[in-house]
Amino acid sequence: MTDRGVNYWGEDRMSISNQQIVAYWVEHEVDLRLDWSTAHERCWRCGYRSSLEQHLVVPASMGGSRTTDNVVLLCGRCVSESPSHLDPQYLWRWLRATSMSSTDTYWTLRGWEEFEVIFGRKPLECFKEAAVDHRSLNAECRALAADEFAKTVVRFGEGRLNPSTIACVIADIEKKLADRHGIKLP
Ligand SMILES: [Zn+2]
Repeated sequence: MTDRGVNYWGEDRMSISNQQIVAYWVEHEVDLRLDWSTAHERCWRCGYRSSLEQHLVVPASMGGSRTTDNVVLLCGRCVSESPSHLDPQYLWRWLRATSMSSTDTYWTLRGWEEFEVIFGRKPLECFKEAAVDHRSLNAECRALAADEFAKTVVRFGEGRLNPSTIACVIADIEKKLADRHGIKLP
């Protein structure tokens, strides 16, 4: 069931529920590694539970319509990274290539990769040589994370921190751990 609504620009547009969009694509067997039972509330790309946009595969400005066959559910951050192209095959190809099967790890991994780009080495690498127990190191990282995230801010409309900001958080955590354990960072 769809019902017609008028948005605040006065345009007439169809209103579709996230469940309807999921039901459509489950039937059309798109080859995505996502758990369809939670696909109405988790981003189809990063897998995070997030405020989701009903994103048009073919943009409205290029004639794409707000119908189930032209809508996917993405968080704001993934929308900003998605291809905006007349040919829908590119968005699907991008989704298949970059979507995560596990949930709630995508942006941390991207932050990890961004750290390597910015600092030219893997984070926490120097702790490998040091005699620090890895399980306690993980616990220390988690304990420090809350304070470090307080130094950052999620930009309006993005829904969560971007990879370069996460890389900064990792850098600050690493710095504190290095001081604590007397390890010299490169
Ligand atoms: Zn996402």
